[in-house]
Amino acid sequence: MLDTAIEYLKGVGPQRGEVLKRELGIYTCGDLLLHFPFRYIDRTRFHHIRDMRQEGEAYQLKGVLRRLETVGEGRVKRLVGTLRDETGAVELVWFQGISWLERSLTVGKQYVVYGRASLFNGRFNIAHPEMEELSPENAQSARTFDPVYPSTDRLTQKGLDARGLRKLLRTLLDQITPAEVPETLPDALLSAYRLMPRWEALNKIHFPENQQELDAARRRLKFEELFFLQLRLLQIRHRRKTSSQGFVFEKVGDYFHRFYREKLPFELTNAQKRVVREIRADLGAGAQMNRLVQGDVGSGKTVVALLSMLIAIDNGYQACLMAPTEILAQQHYNSITELVGDLGVQVGFLSGTVKGKTRKAILEALASGDMHIVVGTHALIEEAVQFHRLGLAVIDEQHRFGVEQRAALWKKGAGMPPHVLVMTATPIPRTLAMTLYGDLDTSIIDELPPGRKPIKTLHFTEAHRLRVQGFMREQIAQGRQVYVVYPMIEETEKADMLNLMTGYEALSRDFPPPEYQISIVHGKMKPADKDFEMQRFARGQTHIMVATTVIEVGVNVPNATVMVVENAERFGLSQLHQLRGRVGRGAEQSYCLLMTTQKLSADARERIQTLVRTNNGFEIADADLRLRGPGNIEGTQQSGMIRFLIADLAHDGHILTAAREIAKRILEADPELTAPENHRLREHLASTGKEARLWSRIS
Ligand code: ADP
Ligand code: MG
Repeated sequence: MLDTAIEYLKGVGPQRGEVLKRELGIYTCGDLLLHFPFRYIDRTRFHHIRDMRQEGEAYQLKGVLRRLETVGEGRVKRLVGTLRDETGAVELVWFQGISWLERSLTVGKQYVVYGRASLFNGRFNIAHPEMEELSPENAQSARTFDPVYPSTDRLTQKGLDARGLRKLLRTLLDQITPAEVPETLPDALLSAYRLMPRWEALNKIHFPENQQELDAARRRLKFEELFFLQLRLLQIRHRRKTSSQGFVFEKVGDYFHRFYREKLPFELTNAQKRVVREIRADLGAGAQMNRLVQGDVGSGKTVVALLSMLIAIDNGYQACLMAPTEILAQQHYNSITELVGDLGVQVGFLSGTVKGKTRKAILEALASGDMHIVVGTHALIEEAVQFHRLGLAVIDEQHRFGVEQRAALWKKGAGMPPHVLVMTATPIPRTLAMTLYGDLDTSIIDELPPGRKPIKTLHFTEAHRLRVQGFMREQIAQGRQVYVVYPMIEETEKADMLNLMTGYEALSRDFPPPEYQISIVHGKMKPADKDFEMQRFARGQTHIMVATTVIEVGVNVPNATVMVVENAERFGLSQLHQLRGRVGRGAEQSYCLLMTTQKLSADARERIQTLVRTNNGFEIADADLRLRGPGNIEGTQQSGMIRFLIADLAHDGHILTAAREIAKRILEADPELTAPENHRLREHLASTGKEARLWSRIS
């Protein structure tokens, strides 16, 4: 039955079948079974109009439609009705589908009405209520929760609105037998975690009789979805570790030890030490390393990368470090050459701007093996770049690189893929990391080097402009430097550019030369000019850096202590956090001043408040996920993968964590799931295997 084409289900036929396929991607009865309701109408009780109390609460009412008329014109045009029962009257409002509703509703008739109460001018009304003519079937309460399915105009035209789909699902569920929906989880697991059996869950998700049943069905289905994904990812990881080969870096040698003893200018934090140990273990294990290092801005990832690269060199291999922008690559190059000093490690720089003789010399040194480390941009993955023995590739700021780019790097290994270390300063919410990178090993640097003063974040509006300027002057007088960042997005580029230039001019008046020097950097400038301005600021020759988000990633000017973000309400949470990370890099107290308009949307207000409250990147990433939903988190759109049937990463973190733990435990005992008690798992994985995508492969 489940494999039957959808048009053969009673009540469907070729025409409706076609729309179901086109609009909802439902090809078979099985697909329909997995088309879950997105909400429910609680039919278990009727309320009296007089008893409506709570704004936002959903009510089922029964009464006579007393009035129905269109009000207003154009965009504010709406259809207004009045429903009356024996206790009072309530207004019903529609903003869409007006003409159709006018035709289908009749004044004087009795209706069952369902919807959420909203308060308007001190009185309750219901916007876009569900209307059903009163009939013997719906007059009684205590039926069920009615499922409401995602539908579209096209479907509605074919009679497949919420009610039509409900009927189809009823038909389907009445026709299939429990045997056709086999259990996928072992009995022991079902009872240990009190999970509803699959057959029951699929029935109750469509037609629950009460909230408890609905909750239990949801929990079971979410668990199942997350659990099998984790099982699959962890199995990939396990197989890679046991079967894929990698270079063995068995020793930690001279370069590493001498660097550690003679060159390292500070004591590593415990978190850095732990991560270096984790990497060290990977490099010696005989399988290719695929490790993601997450660490907040300023947590000291560069030196961790360098130590790893030194291990590669100690074992006779080369290493490369790839960064997403020229500025960043240059900075990495500078800090690495400075750190290694006269250790005897040959470090080179390669980007699109390196040309002619210099480029030729670098390519030759890489091919001959004379050069140990090369730092660069995308230029590193060009065909012409050949390594003698590339053993380790470090990629900074992972989300800016596509999978193909990483794969290209992979091919440069000497017969085998190099070890891969990915570093990101964009903390990914834990739930997302477990899903996106569930097959990777992750390390977290969750500690900042000592002596850092937490950045103070403050929220200001235009009314405080003078105070903010006064503060900037004070800081500059103390020898510090200031960033002023403006939003710049493609859609509103012209207006944004104007905004930036106006801001720049105003600043130039308020901070006039020769006393004050101002740099400006934006995306429309030539790379060389950008670089020149960046360098001036980095050397302390200018006091203020006016910029767009081009300075977001990685730029390191420890003397800059103030970050002013203009129109902060227009930035995303993670982006603001990244910007804030540009300051607080030196010993001085740093500040982040968020300038916004007076009026803020609820979301914008929450973003600003979150930043003011916390400096913790992981907490911020979680808030970002909650506010924007998983589909919008940076790095996930391209992969186009977080499409769950029912699980929701923003809210189901606890289920996910449990699912991952359980999957881990099962695989530890039985990696290939060959034990009899795991046969359901093995079969389900095999039967869904062809659809399953490999979510993420770094290499
Ligand atoms: P990020 O993780 O943002 O890439 P960096 O590697 O750029 O951070 O490090 C930020 C700054 O902190 C650098 O100036 C670096 O030299 C310094 N640093 C790194 N580790 C330590 C440490 N353990 N103690 C003191 N300073 C450190
Ligand atoms: Mg960095």
